[in-house]
Amino acid sequence: MRRPFRRRPLRRSPARGPGAVPPLLRQANALARQGRHAEALILLERLLARPGAAAHPRTPALKLQAGRAAILAGQTETGLGYLRAGLQEMAARGQWAALERHIPRVTEGLEQAGMAAAAAEMEAWARALFPAEVSAVSHPTPAGQLPTHCVGCGAPVNPRETEWLDARTAECPYCGTPLHAE
Ligand SMILES: [Zn+2]
Repeated sequence: MRRPFRRRPLRRSPARGPGAVPPLLRQANALARQGRHAEALILLERLLARPGAAAHPRTPALKLQAGRAAILAGQTETGLGYLRAGLQEMAARGQWAALERHIPRVTEGLEQAGMAAAAAEMEAWARALFPAEVSAVSHPTPAGQLPTHCVGCGAPVNPRETEWLDARTAECPYCGTPLHAE
C-alpha cells in the first residue's frame, strides 16, 4: 500500500514573523515566569553569545533582561553590569526612544529588589547618556490593553517599555513580535 503523500512543513524564514523568535528566548521567559531566574540567565547568556548577537538591534534589550534575571537570581554585580551594558549600547546605537522607555523600568526593577541606592545611581548615570540635543520623545497614545505576555517569546509585556508602532500595535522589545492592543 502506498503511503499518502505528506507535505513537509514549510520552513519559516528565520528573518521575520513570530517564527523568528529564538526558542532559547521562549524557554528563558518560561523559566523566569516560574521564578527560575538563574536558569533563565544561563539561556539568555547563551543567546547573547551567539554569532551575530553583537550587531542585532534587540541585543541591548536582551542585556536588560539578562540584568533583571541576574538580580532576581541574587547575582547583583553581574546584573548591574548587564543593565549598564544594555543602556549604554542603546545610547551608542542612538536608540534614544528605547533608552527613554527602558530607564524607568530598570530603575523600578532595582527598587523592587531593595536596591534603592543603586536604582538612583543607575538613573542618574543613564540620564547623562542623552546628548543635550535629544529632546523628549513623543509616544502615540495607546488605544487599548496589550496582552500581559508577548505572544512570540512569552516575555512579560510592559506597555511603557514597548515601542508603539501605532495606537493599537506595539512591538515586543525582546523578539520584535507585533502585539495588538485589545
Ligand atoms: Zn517577544
